[in-house]
Amino acid sequence: APYQVANVHELLDSTLLMLSGKIGPHITVVKDYDCNLPKIPAYPGELNQVWTNLIDNAVSAMHSTDTDTQGTLTVRTALDGDHVLVEFGDTGPGVPEEIRDLIFDPFFTTKPVGEGTGLGLDISWRIVVNKHNGDLRFESVPGHTRFQVRLPLTTGGP
Ligand code: ADP
Ligand code: MG
Repeated sequence: APYQVANVHELLDSTLLMLSGKIGPHITVVKDYDCNLPKIPAYPGELNQVWTNLIDNAVSAMHSTDTDTQGTLTVRTALDGDHVLVEFGDTGPGVPEEIRDLIFDPFFTTKPVGEGTGLGLDISWRIVVNKHNGDLRFESVPGHTRFQVRLPLTTGGP
């Protein structure tokens, strides 16, 4: 798909709708959208793939918490200088200290065989950083994890 002027909220909403079955009734989705968020140049299909990966990871983390599957998925957008910030927060167990340097590596997964390919974050990194000249990072403490995507407002080209 070509580079387009993308409405990030429309993309997020379509991904959330597509994943509503997986998210399930026990996870509360909180949308905290900045209604003045500008549109950005982007590859929409690829950004949807990033949202899908990050939401899938968040939901899996909350499902694995214990017997009672529940939690809160927060999707927040904001203008951050000359970038758009898209943040995915979850109330899962967090990313353990000893694997924090590994999770973006291709094929790294803590999921059972057949459940995770370990490619979600690797692909997301390529799309956000290499293809959109953006930034992808995370913060995690036990009980709360937050992945942050930053996308430039302009392509930076002439
Ligand atoms: P996969 O989902 O197939 O395991 P990913 O590249 O998407 O591959 O993620 C790699 C690993 O990073 C996961 O297996 C998990 O251990 C960790 N991880 C990713 N997102 C989260 C999250 N929100 N909470 C806790 N751990 C996470
Ligand atoms: Mg994944």
